Amino acid sequence: MHRTIVLITLSAFLFTACGKQVTDPELNAETAPEWPVVDAVASYDMDVTLDPEHKTLTGHERITYVNTGETSIHDVIFHLYLNAFRDDHSSIFMQEAGPSHRGFSLDTDHPGWTEVTSIHLEDGTPLSFELIEDETLGRLELPHPIAPGKTLILEIDFKAQLPQVFARTGFYEDFFMVGQWFPKLGVWQNDRWNAYPFHANSEFFADFGDYDVRITVPEQYVIAATGLPVSSTANEDGTQTTQFEAKGVIDFAWSASPHFKQSTRKVDGTEIVYVYLPEHEFTVERVLYAAETAVSHFGDWYGMYPYPRLTIVDVPDQAEGAGGMEYPMLVAAGLADLTGLGIMKGRLDRLLETVTVHEIAHEWWYAVVAFNEAEEPWLDEGITDYSTVRLMDRVYGPNDTVLQLGGIELDYLQMRRMEYLADPLVPMYGKAWDFDQINYGIATYSKPVLALSTLENVVGEQTMLEIMSTFFEQYKFSHPTTQDFRSVAEDVAGQKLDWFFDGLVYGDDVLNYTVTSVNEHSLTVERQGELIIPTEVEVTFEDGTTEMTAWDGVQDEMTFDYPDRASIRQAEVDPHQKILVDLQWSDNGLSRRMDVMSWLAVSARLLFQIQDFLLGQGGL
Ligand SMILES: [Zn+2]
Repeated sequence: MHRTIVLITLSAFLFTACGKQVTDPELNAETAPEWPVVDAVASYDMDVTLDPEHKTLTGHERITYVNTGETSIHDVIFHLYLNAFRDDHSSIFMQEAGPSHRGFSLDTDHPGWTEVTSIHLEDGTPLSFELIEDETLGRLELPHPIAPGKTLILEIDFKAQLPQVFARTGFYEDFFMVGQWFPKLGVWQNDRWNAYPFHANSEFFADFGDYDVRITVPEQYVIAATGLPVSSTANEDGTQTTQFEAKGVIDFAWSASPHFKQSTRKVDGTEIVYVYLPEHEFTVERVLYAAETAVSHFGDWYGMYPYPRLTIVDVPDQAEGAGGMEYPMLVAAGLADLTGLGIMKGRLDRLLETVTVHEIAHEWWYAVVAFNEAEEPWLDEGITDYSTVRLMDRVYGPNDTVLQLGGIELDYLQMRRMEYLADPLVPMYGKAWDFDQINYGIATYSKPVLALSTLENVVGEQTMLEIMSTFFEQYKFSHPTTQDFRSVAEDVAGQKLDWFFDGLVYGDDVLNYTVTSVNEHSLTVERQGELIIPTEVEVTFEDGTTEMTAWDGVQDEMTFDYPDRASIRQAEVDPHQKILVDLQWSDNGLSRRMDVMSWLAVSARLLFQIQDFLLGQGGL
């Protein structure tokens, strides 16, 4: 897509004159920022004021909702996510999290909640509202149904108490990460509201819409937000109001701190803004380089980033629960600190870059394609993390160590493989709450990364890129499902991919390829497990020559004969270790790589610490 973009710097917007609205003159130039053309289903026009002392928000929202379904809608279901954090035991979230989320506990002295203080129709008709499930959902009966194609406008006043940073949102001293903060509609699909209570493992699902949000904070605060800042006003009371606009997005998040500094870069028509804390000045070049590289590579691989700006927010070391999270046009990165892990000699290189790249990869999958993260979380995290591994390998090199523990070095993929081997039987497909926290990590991160990388190795890099870019272009802004991904993948690859979808995504199939015997002129290979992935067998003969033979893996045992060759010296199945889900590489023949399985036996406990760490601090 061809785009013309106006470069707008945050500082220009933060230039304010008392009592007078200052609009950036560049916005009035002939070239307005170009937004993706997306049908707005649920749009939000909001005013919100932060009270930094009491850590509260006072807000008003005007929701414009279009019924794009085939039947009339009689009621409306809202999310009130912050109500999950009223205490450490009442909500479904806290019961499932039990009671810590990704290694962090809720500070019960600083809980979170949202209260709807008034709700009415555009004409002033008041509506009554009931909290349902565990109060993370609200429901209201409409006086008149919304007919197909018709629009509903709701006016809602609300208050929110931000928790001390927990599960991606809240405050730490004067730092605020404001996510999941406003009453937000579910998604009307197949004649029902697709809206679940807030579950511990679950992320989000929302319709696309346009956002126009005015945020009021003390004048010394700097705001980072979804969208583009379009104006800023200094108010008489020492506050400032900054207006942000975003079109064709599924959510709106923002962050504020009086300490924020910023640095910007432009790549492929997108302005990248890094908003960071002064103590993290040393991360500026690293984060911007990673971000720039990610935006341009993902743009080349999948399709152009469709928005004019991407903001990366840094988080304080003490507020890592807010880091490693994606929102539309805004990601929270942050430095990961190993001190909480208990791995004294551990070191994670490139974790800063890995987290940055991972969150930016989400912009293509979570934010633009927009999967249902509650119902099919593997699609979002899996494809995102696969994209991350791919980029880190190509930009920083496959041997750039991510994790060092004692004398052992693991790259990102080896780390994911180690996690997978802890429970390879868990299917990738499932609703977020079908999994416990460890299995959720394996099902949605570890296994999909290995499965997708294996798929790339089997169909070839070019075909895989074509699958991904076709899927992105065909399904952007449309909430596709696993079945949609399957139809594109099989169509582009020109083959059935039962092993991938039935075996790994929906199923619990595993495989171990092994060479069971080598004779003078023949060898026997075996497939253990039900998973069938085409592979190859490499034979080295006594005269030093080699031969590669394809094996479809369909028979569980296969003998290959080489009657006219020199004696066989050795044989190896899958010699290039393309099948990353193979349970054991050490019996494939002569293994050139470290076999993680034997390592695993010694390190089971460590594994869970690492995974907790990756899920939590790295967030991802
Ligand atoms: Zn992620």
